[in-house]
Amino acid sequence: MSNTRSDQRHHKVGSPLVHNGCSKCTCPILIVEDQRSIANMLASVIEDRYGYATVVTGTLAETAQILESQPVHLAIADLNLPDAPYGEVIDLLHKHRISTIALTGAFGREMRETILKKGAIDYIPKQSPHSIEYAVEMADRIYKNHHTDVLVVDDSLSSRALLKHILEMQQFNVIAASDGPEALSVLQERPDIRLALVDYEMPGMNGFELIHEIRKRSSKEELAIIGISASEEGEMSAQFLKSGANDFVRKPYSYEEILCRIGQNLEMLELIRTNREAAYRDFLTGLHNRRHFFEQGAKLHQQASQHGGAVAAMLDVDHFKKVNDTYGHDAGDIVLIELARLLSRHFGQYLLARLGGEEFAVIIGGATLETARELLEAFRLEAENSPAQYDDQTIPYTVSIGLTDQLGESVDDFIKTADQHLYQAKTGGRNRIVCGSR
Ligand code: GH3
Ligand code: MG
Ligand code: MG
Ligand code: MG
Repeated sequence: MSNTRSDQRHHKVGSPLVHNGCSKCTCPILIVEDQRSIANMLASVIEDRYGYATVVTGTLAETAQILESQPVHLAIADLNLPDAPYGEVIDLLHKHRISTIALTGAFGREMRETILKKGAIDYIPKQSPHSIEYAVEMADRIYKNHHTDVLVVDDSLSSRALLKHILEMQQFNVIAASDGPEALSVLQERPDIRLALVDYEMPGMNGFELIHEIRKRSSKEELAIIGISASEEGEMSAQFLKSGANDFVRKPYSYEEILCRIGQNLEMLELIRTNREAAYRDFLTGLHNRRHFFEQGAKLHQQASQHGGAVAAMLDVDHFKKVNDTYGHDAGDIVLIELARLLSRHFGQYLLARLGGEEFAVIIGGATLETARELLEAFRLEAENSPAQYDDQTIPYTVSIGLTDQLGESVDDFIKTADQHLYQAKTGGRNRIVCGSR
């Protein structure tokens, strides 16, 4: 049996604010703040750091006008405005179903109750030195939540509804399941789910057993699980963690507590993902690196060996040492960055990487040698005609390319053959493609 005390202690916050009007999230963040310095600071941090657009208003009247004229993704709004001193703007935003983070001057328990009752999703005391930082991070979080799938597993209808409500206010996509087997089938169907909130006491399969099953398929780094239970037993949290949960929250929980835990766990997942991603990227150009290329290349090679073919291309900048010697190493870097950009434009949808130095590689699955040759010839020509710019210098460069559709026994064989053709392109005069067929 699930406990529902949290329902009683919990705020009756308004109806879920499903962000309406803009499905693609290119709509701006609305900043409502009459103190120009704060408004500008918020706007510049949001735009510069995260690249989201912002719109700033300073009064209730201006805000009403904006809301009539354009869709808004979410709002960060001051409670005390010249024409609306009692948080009327929160009511207005709520009426328009805009998720709102409230900025408050004074802060106290009563204030918190009032703000949450008005339907704001969070509040930030303005005088705190980290308030701008917090507000901006929160806004970014809400943007991301919009693309984050969360699973709620609880046999109690009211507990499930409460969590769903809290999460939807934060713009998460929520999927609810009423028992373990249902949760497992949802997870099977929706591999994009990033977070699961799992109740302990459920008929049939309890929370521990469910997590145990989930962990057979998804690691802690792929799917965060937060265990939830009303049990007074001290070892409950330890048992949850030992079963494979990332975190544990005891019922009854406060609105802020559950949100903080959710936020922290998602941030951890993102951090791990970012680090992993960085390990597969080349630092200078942002392209994938050798490690990624050979790992993914092995899979592509296998597929190509079974059905259809593939073409591998090895590319190398001509006389690049001379570029460095003539224009300097920094200019050489710019050439590599420009070249990588051009490569991404032409071959971004294929397996593309900087293997090292001024050497790049592409594998085009399913292509014939002739089609691949045409694609690479178009690229070679554009490279020849798009010199890099460094300071006020124009730096021309060319690229030699070796192509093959001879798969060989492994991806190493495949690339080695392409490299032999690259060598021929070099000895044959550079700035050209040499193809080798089966
Ligand atoms: P070839 O036409 O035969 O390929 O001649 P090359 O000069 O391009 O070839 P070589 O292998 O002799 O020299 C490659 C040069 O690339 C030497 C190295 O200093 C430079 N290089 C490697 N990595 C980087 C880098 O990240 N940045 C810069 N600026 N230069 C690099
Ligand atoms: Mg004010
Ligand atoms: Mg070279
Ligand atoms: Mg080289």
